[in-house]
Amino acid sequence: MDHFNSAHDAVVKLRPDVPLAVNRPHLVRAAARWFLDSFEGDILYAVKANPSPWVLEALWREGVRHFDVASVNECKLVRDMFPSATLAFMHPVKNRAAIARAYHEFGCRIFALDSVEELQKILDETGGATDLTFIVRLRVSNADASLKLEAKFGAMGDEAVTLLRQARAATQEDLGVSFHVGSQCMNPSAWRAALREASQLIIQAGVTIDVVDVGGGFPSIYPGMNPPPMQLFIDEIHRVFDAMPVTMNCKLWAEPGRALVAEATSIVVKVDLRKGDALYINDGSYGNLFDATHVGWVYPVAMIRPEGGEPSKLADFRFYGPTCDSMDAATGPFRLPADIGEGDWIEIGMLGAYGVAMATRFNGYGESVDVIAEDAPHASMFPMPERVAARVSRFAKG
Ligand SMILES: *Cc1c(COP(=O)(O)O)cnc(C)c1O
Repeated sequence: MDHFNSAHDAVVKLRPDVPLAVNRPHLVRAAARWFLDSFEGDILYAVKANPSPWVLEALWREGVRHFDVASVNECKLVRDMFPSATLAFMHPVKNRAAIARAYHEFGCRIFALDSVEELQKILDETGGATDLTFIVRLRVSNADASLKLEAKFGAMGDEAVTLLRQARAATQEDLGVSFHVGSQCMNPSAWRAALREASQLIIQAGVTIDVVDVGGGFPSIYPGMNPPPMQLFIDEIHRVFDAMPVTMNCKLWAEPGRALVAEATSIVVKVDLRKGDALYINDGSYGNLFDATHVGWVYPVAMIRPEGGEPSKLADFRFYGPTCDSMDAATGPFRLPADIGEGDWIEIGMLGAYGVAMATRFNGYGESVDVIAEDAPHASMFPMPERVAARVSRFAKG
């Protein structure tokens, strides 16, 4: 990947016709450093948020050693890069062949599950292994999350109690509980409620618990979504965890995805045509802009016009992506200079999580070019030097 000082410099030099992913490994490292220093437990990076090798490399260099994987290909990706990494297969429903390969080929010893059927599958496919850590996924409220994940997975009530007992009987190694409060969770109290629900079930089951995994869901900043400081989330988790009915040396885990990578990538798109307030751009819902189009999230934007010129006042725009599908549209509104038009570029920020990770090749699009830049994010959840903070406050107002 070529290096540039900033997204602006990259555009000036490359004048890209395909979307440009401007990647900032220093921001992944800053977020990882914050979590490693602040969280009193292990950080498992949720690989699905952004599986790019430069992301995994930056996390590893900063000291992240545990990875939450959810497919056999994610197991392979991480194991090939880091032979000594700890893999945790946190998808509660796994293909039998995936279980077998994760265990025998990639050395995965930690498996999540939310049913007794899955417990049996794991025991079958590992040949009745005795070195397994089981993490029972509980279903908890996602009321405070911007993207809800509660419908699909998680055991509740008596079902959870039975599963905790059976999983306890099936291993001499660690038994844990996990949950996911939903992605982009805006309220620290969601973890308090979830941990209390977990405590109730642990007491009812009467089992010894060695791991409490508080999942992902830690928020990032987007226009219109300004979460409280990250420290409050961590403080709340520490406070409630300390009072849980678990062993003295019970481990605490978290699986952040979004929070570690959201700030680190922006996508630079080119305007191919303007019709009124609609900008036809070269990236969209089948490329790097899934959440902007399908979920209607607003991302911070800035025009890049290499020849410069007088800045015009701002106006609201919406985007159409490059494919022929009419769902390939983002209503925004995105605030950009009123005179923007064909041939201008737009930097769309905060797309490091669930951006490039979700791009497809539909309709012949989906190609992008990766570069590395040293500049600041559009907004940040983490403390940063003053020089960087100046740009952040400029964009945070949106
Ligand atoms: C997606 C996912 C994560 C990461 O969630 P974020 O909202 O990106 O932090 C963590 N754990 C599990 C089990 C997941 O499915």
